[in-house]
Amino acid sequence: KNNKILISACLLGSKVRYDGKDNLIDSELIRRLENEGRLVPVCPEMEGGLATPRAPAEIQDKFPLRITNIHDEDVTPQFLDGAEKTLEIALREGCCCALMKSRSPSCGNHEVYDGHFNNTIKPGSGVTADELMRKGFPVYNERQLDQLTEFMALQDR
Ligand code: SF4
Repeated sequence: KNNKILISACLLGSKVRYDGKDNLIDSELIRRLENEGRLVPVCPEMEGGLATPRAPAEIQDKFPLRITNIHDEDVTPQFLDGAEKTLEIALREGCCCALMKSRSPSCGNHEVYDGHFNNTIKPGSGVTADELMRKGFPVYNERQLDQLTEFMALQDR
């Protein structure tokens, strides 16, 4: 039965963010799922070969996809590679869904920064979240734990 959940590694406390920090969430649900061995932590940007810390990156264009870091270096290939590897992990581990960090150019499920590095968000999704959703995985963010809980309840029935 596919009852594991892919999770952005930074949400579980791994210091894999671009600035070397984490995004640890304090949640009963997450602790329970972790204790049950059902969480599969992945950092798509590290999977794609980027280092930590790294320069922050934002999506510049979706069609064709172009992602640059704040030094205007093209990191599109690393983001694509990270998305593919993360998808492979989700399939291999039998994940039913994903809990991913909001607003990340990799992990964000419905909002991302607008590409100008001035802290402005716009509707859209990150490269990995996009890939997972395209393949049919429901993707929730850390502000949607209620929805994740409902989905898991259906899944566990
Ligand atoms: Fe977290 Fe995703 Fe960014 Fe990695 S790519 S640090 S998992 S938000």
